[in-house]
Amino acid sequence: MFTTTSTLESPVQYLKGIGPKKAKHLKRLNVETIGDFLFLVPRRYIDRSNIVKIRELPLDIEGTIFGKIVATNVKITKNKGLLVTILVSDNTGVLEAIWFNRPDLKDKFRVNQKIILSGIVTFRYRKQMINPFYEIIPENTNSSRKSIATNNFDQSFKFVYTGGIIPIYPLTEGLTNWDIRRSMRYAIDTYCNDLNETLPINILRKYNFPNIVQTIQNIHFPEKITDAQIAYKRLVFEEFFYFELILALQKLNILRSTKGYILEDKGILTQKFIASLPFKLTPGQLKVLDEIRNDMARPRPMNRLLQGDVGSGKTVIAIYAMLIAIENGYQAALMAPTEILAEQHYFVWYQRLKELGVSSCLLTGSTKIKERKLLYEGIRTGNINLVFGTHALIEENVMFHKLGIAVVDEQHRFGVMQRAALLNKGINPDFLVMTATPIPRTLQLTIYGDLDVSKLVEKPPGRKKTITRIVDEKNRSQVYQFIKESLTKKRQIYIVCPLIDESEKMDLRAAIKTYQEIQSIFKEARVGLIHGRIKSSERIKIMEDFRNHQLDILVTTTVIEVGIDIPNASIMIIEHPERFGLSQLHQLRGRIGRGTEVSYCILITSVGPNSIAYERLKFFEQTDDGFLLAEKDLEIRGPGEIFGTRQHGLPDFHFADLKRDEHLLFKARDEAFSLIEKDPRLERSENQLIRNTFLKRFKNRIGLLRVG
Ligand code: ADP
Ligand code: MG
Repeated sequence: MFTTTSTLESPVQYLKGIGPKKAKHLKRLNVETIGDFLFLVPRRYIDRSNIVKIRELPLDIEGTIFGKIVATNVKITKNKGLLVTILVSDNTGVLEAIWFNRPDLKDKFRVNQKIILSGIVTFRYRKQMINPFYEIIPENTNSSRKSIATNNFDQSFKFVYTGGIIPIYPLTEGLTNWDIRRSMRYAIDTYCNDLNETLPINILRKYNFPNIVQTIQNIHFPEKITDAQIAYKRLVFEEFFYFELILALQKLNILRSTKGYILEDKGILTQKFIASLPFKLTPGQLKVLDEIRNDMARPRPMNRLLQGDVGSGKTVIAIYAMLIAIENGYQAALMAPTEILAEQHYFVWYQRLKELGVSSCLLTGSTKIKERKLLYEGIRTGNINLVFGTHALIEENVMFHKLGIAVVDEQHRFGVMQRAALLNKGINPDFLVMTATPIPRTLQLTIYGDLDVSKLVEKPPGRKKTITRIVDEKNRSQVYQFIKESLTKKRQIYIVCPLIDESEKMDLRAAIKTYQEIQSIFKEARVGLIHGRIKSSERIKIMEDFRNHQLDILVTTTVIEVGIDIPNASIMIIEHPERFGLSQLHQLRGRIGRGTEVSYCILITSVGPNSIAYERLKFFEQTDDGFLLAEKDLEIRGPGEIFGTRQHGLPDFHFADLKRDEHLLFKARDEAFSLIEKDPRLERSENQLIRNTFLKRFKNRIGLLRVG
């Protein structure tokens, strides 16, 4: 991922001190090459010059001590799981360090080892640090001496340990901080000079950033903590800069391009479509439609973000816009982030579309090869007017006859590159992206900076409130009673289990177990189970059964989190809600409250009041505003977590943290935009370094951006 020469691209296992076993562990930290290794940044630093005596250690703030381990203990406790405890003495006092649930530390500590500990100091019988950062100082004993000597690490050993600042690396099983530091010293001494500079000198000077070689040196072996900080800033800036460069190229090139299609709302299909709907569009929807109509009728391509809270009625707007393209003789595509959502869109709309004479299809990863070939053919010849799909839409084999408009649903689940890939399926098609997830305005400007924004403020009329309640696990039977009553009133119910990651086998078992329990408790009810591992054809059947009220209760994982729309389902039970982010809970809750019944969202949890987790749930119980919830998420968990799971449209920044580094983002954005303003195709000689870095970094995907 980084600009490297061939040596830097060699596998990290060939690095001295690493080898195949440790290389495997490093892979879990996304380190595959020696170059990646150099860019493995510490999570934090311990400043040895701050070491104080245990007796003088102030309480409730972070402190660092150095001492000898005098006792170790490993315990399994009833509710807290594994507990690793050590006592450390430095002749002025004794401090207790405790780690919860860190099986990797079980055999780590020995009496008489010298250790540095850094963490918040608390007091319970004696001074304590809970989950502190630590560094064991290797003894100059014969055995370790020997291993160091045979590896020729004598020199580096000294160097590594005389420095006053200790980087603490992200670790996984089988790797110690010492392993990493030792090999890092070697890697830097041997390979650092091979790194190519990736920022131009004028930017380095302007912001006082170190060059790339100094940057890497200062990240790993800083003399002062500020050196490491400035080096890190440079990496963040650089990451933002190249990201914003993509946006700048998209935005400015689209602005310049006059090659877009003029697609006017002729009313041929659109009027019939509106007449076929069982409801009237709201004034808010009409206003957004006006904005879209104007955009599409212009000769330059539309590039619009439609933001509207869950259930505000965005889909019908998307279909309308797609019909404008189709009545002008073009094709339309809608990309959704999950198969289950793409399937829903298709099954909800294809009949109505067919009645208008519009042929539509569904293309996902589950589409069988034979059918897929037929679809490719139909899409290529233009026989298919409208394609609903997932990422499968952006595969190479998909070629459109004449793509007039591309729509991305739940945009926050996609990255900027996937957006670009869909766009690239046509020649400057109109582009509409939709999201329910609000993000703070500043970030929006920066991350969706290449898009115009429409907002859908009100929800369709007649919707009743959703009442949210936290229920203690102890009172589960009351919830079951409530379910019983609701079933007699013909309500439909979601029961959501926290399968955050579809690969977590344990969670999957939990969902299946819940399903079996629910079946045995509610014998009279028709219960379905849905999760990511269920085959597409089966899943479609289950969802359609639930939609048609052939099922009363749907036990589900988070696969239904976004977009699913089954208005008669008015009750949602969420198990272990404390494991979800607030925005994710909001998305989930958005599945109900779509009909004319009052809806109930019930959170069953065993977290006790007076905990942070409970506070969060309380906030969720009392807040229905997706924007406030997102802000709170950002505050508590940081931007990467806004969107719950690992998948989210915020680019996966490696170094940057959108909240913490906001000011750098703005600077990087200004630099990128003013650069492209002056040199839209990066042709000038002084910009070749940027151009080459950019091309390398985004490799083959660059064609998407219509550069050069
Ligand atoms: P979202 O914005 O979350 O994607 P949907 O497009 O799924 O929302 O719409 C939610 C529900 O509201 C759907 O069942 C849809 O048919 C319905 N709906 C959309 N617009 C209106 C309207 N103007 N009046 C009544 N119901 C509407
Ligand atoms: Mg939707």
